[in-house]
Amino acid sequence: MKIITRIKTMQNLTQKLRREGQRIGFVPTMGYLHDGHGSLLKACRRQNDISVLSIFVNPVQFGPQEDLQSYPRDKKNDVLLAKKENVDIIFYPSEKVMYPGRYLTYIHVDEITATLCGASRPGHFRGVATVVGKLLNIIQPHRVYFGQKDAQQCVVIRQMVQDLNIPVRVCVLPTVREKDGLALSSRNAYLTEKERQEAPALYQTLKMAEAEIRRGEQDPRRLTQMMAQFLNSRCPQGNIEYVMCVNAETLEPVKIIQGTVLLALAVRLGKARLIDNVLLRV
Ligand code: AMP
Repeated sequence: MKIITRIKTMQNLTQKLRREGQRIGFVPTMGYLHDGHGSLLKACRRQNDISVLSIFVNPVQFGPQEDLQSYPRDKKNDVLLAKKENVDIIFYPSEKVMYPGRYLTYIHVDEITATLCGASRPGHFRGVATVVGKLLNIIQPHRVYFGQKDAQQCVVIRQMVQDLNIPVRVCVLPTVREKDGLALSSRNAYLTEKERQEAPALYQTLKMAEAEIRRGEQDPRRLTQMMAQFLNSRCPQGNIEYVMCVNAETLEPVKIIQGTVLLALAVRLGKARLIDNVLLRV
């Protein structure tokens, strides 16, 4: 397994591999790897000749009041996990390498970045789109892998890839959960024991809502009100940022629950900001 920190080295290597006819798969992450990342790496390994992992805590996607400084990092363990998943190349650039002194270019995806997480994290998806755009140019993979846990991120990246004609296939994999339903996340490390006990309420709320829809509920307002009440009662330490029922493609709130809908929520629980969602075909 190679660990590469320079852009030119990475670009030269993947260009050579492409010329040799190797299929390159790529998993972008911010490190502190868990089994959610593991599932992306397994698919990447299975579906490609070369498996590339990037680890980069991207400062541009963090707001000034957010957790950039405290974001968990563990290079040693990440390298071990990457070896276990048979990663061929880790791209591990520094901030200086990715954003040198005079850096002026950002990617803005319109409309779909203004809602859900984008509403409370202004500039977040500008940072995400920019770094993913840069990484795709550096690594030039045939396939790139994302987790459904970050549903809006998947929609934004698909849009960017389509609009900018980036020659890559975007693959989205299901959310990996703890036994009690909590979606795996590097930020779960922030939870105290008591907060951790309440955290499964996010997924319980989504499952409750799914059951209501299956029973015939079609009114998104009534449903999201019910979800907020349920969530508050099971997670009293949490502060709801949003609970929404949106069109899975446009991310616009639906007027009636029909077709493919995304039920999504975000909750502040202690130092952590947790998100979760389910995608439903009604
Ligand atoms: P991150 O390191 O948090 O930026 O995540 C890197 C990639 O892993 C993103 O595509 C995430 O959506 C994905 N991911 C994070 N947590 C999970 C999870 N629990 N299940 C599946 N994918 C995940």
